[in-house]
Amino acid sequence: MGQSTRWLAWINGRQEEPTTGAFFTVEEPATGQPLAEVAECGLEDVHRAVGVAREAFESGVWANQSATSRGKVLLRLAQEIRDNVEQLAEWETRQVGKPIRDARGEVLTAADCFEFYAGAANKLYGHTIPVSATGFDYTIRMPVGVVALIVPWNFPFLITAWKVAPALAAGNSILIKPASYTPLTALLLGPLAAAAGIPDGVLNVVPGPGRTVGEAMVAHPGVDKVAFTGETRTGSRVLELAAPNITRVSLELGGKSPTIVFQGVDVDRVAFLAVQSAYANSGQDCCARSRILVQREIHNEFVESVVKHVSALKLGDPLDPDTEMGPLISQSHRDRVATYVAQGQKEGAELVLDPNAKSLPQKGFYLSPAVFSGVQSDMTVVREEIFGPVTTVQAFDSEEQAIRLANDTKYGLSGSVFARDIGQALRVVNQVRAGVMSVNSIKSVHLEAPFGGFKQSGMGRELGMEALEMYTELKNVFVSTD
Ligand code: NAD
Repeated sequence: MGQSTRWLAWINGRQEEPTTGAFFTVEEPATGQPLAEVAECGLEDVHRAVGVAREAFESGVWANQSATSRGKVLLRLAQEIRDNVEQLAEWETRQVGKPIRDARGEVLTAADCFEFYAGAANKLYGHTIPVSATGFDYTIRMPVGVVALIVPWNFPFLITAWKVAPALAAGNSILIKPASYTPLTALLLGPLAAAAGIPDGVLNVVPGPGRTVGEAMVAHPGVDKVAFTGETRTGSRVLELAAPNITRVSLELGGKSPTIVFQGVDVDRVAFLAVQSAYANSGQDCCARSRILVQREIHNEFVESVVKHVSALKLGDPLDPDTEMGPLISQSHRDRVATYVAQGQKEGAELVLDPNAKSLPQKGFYLSPAVFSGVQSDMTVVREEIFGPVTTVQAFDSEEQAIRLANDTKYGLSGSVFARDIGQALRVVNQVRAGVMSVNSIKSVHLEAPFGGFKQSGMGRELGMEALEMYTELKNVFVSTD
């Protein structure tokens, strides 16, 4: 998997120059230096990729293979990924700035994801329905057709796998639109898919700007479904563009998730986990539990413990195997997060861990982590998705108030409840309006279970058998026995 610094699109089973003739530069967040030149595709490339995907779909070369046979190809793709884990992880680390041990774990989880859907492909059952007419009624799940998969930059390879694996297992042909900060590992998937036996035209990767390539895919009449992950604002635009053709859309969007902590728990252990969940991937995680809600009796002790654990995070070169936190994705994002910190102070939040207090590597887009306490629900740092290493800690006095604060957001992606009283934890879980909750754990994602948000965090569910349903149409058939 050796790569020159010039990366081409992957269309119809081969590398393709962009018809625009243009290339854009991907920077390495840890150094701020250019990392790769990538094909900046345009409308013609999208049109061509949709055409070959449509042709592949209509030919039945993939869709008409048995589900068992598709599953076997996906198993081979999982093995290709495992065989190339080190190269994939290194490119992932270099393009995102995430610690290499996290990148390696994500690549291996991506392989697990292909294995899960390899096995799930032939378990997508229909129903038989006892209709009142004389005869036999049954349902079949059919592939939707050509599916555009639009991916963000925070977990580029893993989220690509979350979408590609079920979409292919269900028999669709796909176009992948990686984020422009992080197109490299999606482009590496093309040759791996070909080596595994995915037929030409079934999997295409079209890098380029969201405003041109992304919009053209969503609005294209040849695209039957869009599976989008990204910001809520962009998701809203995707819905608008999909409307004229009634293109199917699923959306995985932003979050502002709570960790809710009741007295009686092991404060230091829970603070450690709360820090892991909020600061992993430098806080650039849709499920980051960036709002910590703590029962007043243990609030001060909890804040102290959070500050201790955040201060201990090893920030540095993401290629160093000991590094726990790398840089942010770009200079502009770093500046945006720093502006939120300043805004929090201006609005009167208490900055109990000041990001400016720590010395940082000289190069790259680094920002030290910040912790606010003494926050009010109407403050900007409590309301908006910052998508960086910043959390707020807020005290509550009762279970009812904890639920009210947890729900006081336009988002509803995930959340954690820590309590010794399991009845209390389950009462709270039932009332928090979010798609993914965990009790005495920070784990949000299980490949076998559905993942997705309530409210403005999205619609539809990825992962689990639910994702297969999302990539299929349901057909009902009646057979008369008269
Ligand atoms: P983004 O919305 O800026 O971009 C996401 C993708 O959409 C990129 O590939 C981008 O090029 C493309 N895009 C941008 N504008 C577009 C347009 N007008 N039409 C079509 N495509 C367009 O998001 P991001 O900054 O890459 O990612 C961070 C966001 O993603 C955060 O809000 C985060 O919470 C969210 N996210 C959600 C989940 C989830 O599963 N719910 C997972 C990861 C990230």
